[in-house]
Amino acid sequence: MTKERLTLFDTTLRDGAQTTGVDFSLADKRHIAAMLDDLGLDYIEGGYPGANQTDTAFFSARPKLNHARFAAFGMVKRAGRSVENDPGLATLFGADADTITFVAKAWDYHVRVALGVSLEENLEAIRLSIEAALAHKREVILDCEHFFDGFKADPFYALNVARTAFEAGARWIVLCDTNGGALPHEVEAIVAVVRDRVPGAYLGIHAHNDTDNAVANSLAAVRAGVRQIHGALNGLGERCGNANLTSIIPTLLLKPDFADAFEIGVSLEKLKSLTKVSHTLDELLNRAPNRHAPYVGASAFATKAGIHASAVVKDPKTYEHVSPEAVGNKRRLLVSDQAGKSNILAELERIGVKLEKNDARVGRLLDEVKQKEALGYAYEGADASFELLARRVLGEVPDFFDVERFRVDVERRHNAQGDLVTVSEAVVKVRIDGETSISAAEGEGPVNALDLALRKDLGKYQPFIEDLNLVDYRVRVFQGGTDAVTRVLVEFTDSSGENWSTVGVSANIIDASFQALTDAITFRLLKSGA
Ligand SMILES: [Zn+2]
Repeated sequence: MTKERLTLFDTTLRDGAQTTGVDFSLADKRHIAAMLDDLGLDYIEGGYPGANQTDTAFFSARPKLNHARFAAFGMVKRAGRSVENDPGLATLFGADADTITFVAKAWDYHVRVALGVSLEENLEAIRLSIEAALAHKREVILDCEHFFDGFKADPFYALNVARTAFEAGARWIVLCDTNGGALPHEVEAIVAVVRDRVPGAYLGIHAHNDTDNAVANSLAAVRAGVRQIHGALNGLGERCGNANLTSIIPTLLLKPDFADAFEIGVSLEKLKSLTKVSHTLDELLNRAPNRHAPYVGASAFATKAGIHASAVVKDPKTYEHVSPEAVGNKRRLLVSDQAGKSNILAELERIGVKLEKNDARVGRLLDEVKQKEALGYAYEGADASFELLARRVLGEVPDFFDVERFRVDVERRHNAQGDLVTVSEAVVKVRIDGETSISAAEGEGPVNALDLALRKDLGKYQPFIEDLNLVDYRVRVFQGGTDAVTRVLVEFTDSSGENWSTVGVSANIIDASFQALTDAITFRLLKSGA
C-alpha cells in the first residue's frame, strides 16, 4: 500500500513566540529554525515580518534551510484598501520567504464586529490577497481563523471562506481552532463536511490546547482528511499552547494506524534526536524541561513500584507503549522506598555497574537508600546523587575535598545611590591534600554566593569545574516526623551539554542546598576522572 504524505508545519517561531515568558532573540530563531529543518519539518513559519524588529530582521536574511520551506505570516489585505496600497501586504511580499501564511477571519460574527466589514468584502480581501501573493511567486497557505467556532455559528459562511481561498489558488486551507475550545469528535465531523463541500482542497489543522485536546484534535482531523498539521515544539503557544509537535511526530511515526497509512518528513532515524531537540529548546528558553512530557520527559519511561520494575527488566514491553530509544529517551527505574533489588540492579546497570542479585553490596546499597529516604531524600530527580551513593558503597569515590566550614550572610542595606539592595556573601573553607584554602564570593542570593565561593578555588580540581552552570534549583518543604524538612534539588550543566541533578536534605534550606552543591561538584570530579 502506498502511503499518503502528511506535511508538518511548525509555528514555534510565530505562534510559539506568543507563549508567556518567551522572547526569542534573532540568534534563538536561527538556532531553532536550523534544528527544525534538521529534524525534517516541512514548513517553518519564521514570524510576522513587520510586526517587530526581530521578525523583520529574520526575514531580511533568511536562514539557510536544507529541507523546510520558509513561511512568513501576515494578514490578508484590509478591506477598503487596494492590494497595491496595503502596507502589510507590501511588507509580506518584501519578506524573503517561500510561502505566505495569510490569516483571515472565517467567523461571520468576527467579520462584522471585529473587522467591521461586510461578509462579501472579507471574501474579496481573501481572494485578492491570494492572487497578489501568487503573482509574487509565493505559495499561499490560508489560515481560516476561528474556523470551528465560525462553522458552528454559520457553516455556510465558514465554508465560503475555505472555498474562496481554494478557488483563488491557495495551496493549503488551514482550519484553525483559534480559541482552542473544539473537541475531537467535533473536529472530525466538521473536517468531513469541509472535505465534502470544498472538494479538491488540501486541508490543514491548526489546533490550540485550551481543552488539552490539541494533539487529539490534530489526529482526529487527519483521520477526517486533513493532510497538514500545524503545531509547535513542546506545545509552545499563547494561553495553553499550540498542538504539541513533540507528541504528534512520534505518534505519527510509531503508532501503526498512522505509521502504516502516512509518511512524514521526519525519519525514524531523526526521531531519535527528538528528546534532545525538545530539551535544547527548553535550554534556549532557560526553563526546566517538563519531566512528565509524553515521549521526551525524564519520567516518560520511569517506573516506580518494585513489582513493575522487575517486569520492566524482564520485558520492557510490559509497561512501555513504545521503546524509549525510538525517541532518544531513556528507561528509568526509580529508586524509591518501594524499591526492590531489581530497581537497584537496573539503576546500577544504567550507570555501568554490573552486580549479581545476591551480591552483599546490593543489599547494603538498598538499606542505605531506604535509610536516606526515611530522612527525606528522593533520588528520582537526582541521578547523580544516587550514583555517588552507589559508588561510595562500592568504595569508588575518593575524598576529593573536605569542607571544613562555610558561612553565608544576607544583608539588606542602602547602597551608595540610596537604593535598598540585598547582598549575599559566602565564605567556604576547604581542605585538599592537607592544605586549606578560604574563598569568599558575593552572589545574587545565598545559594548563588555559596556556589561561587565553593567553586572559586578548588586547587588542582579547578580546571574540571570551570565550565559548570547551575541551571535549576528546586525546593520542597515537607513534614518529616515532627519537624519540617527541606529538600533541595539542583541541576548543573557543562559546556558539552551534559546535565546532572543532585539532592540535599536538612531542616535548614542553606545546609540542604550546600549538600546538593557539593554532591554536584563531587559528581563532576568523579566523572571527569579528576
Ligand atoms: Zn494559533
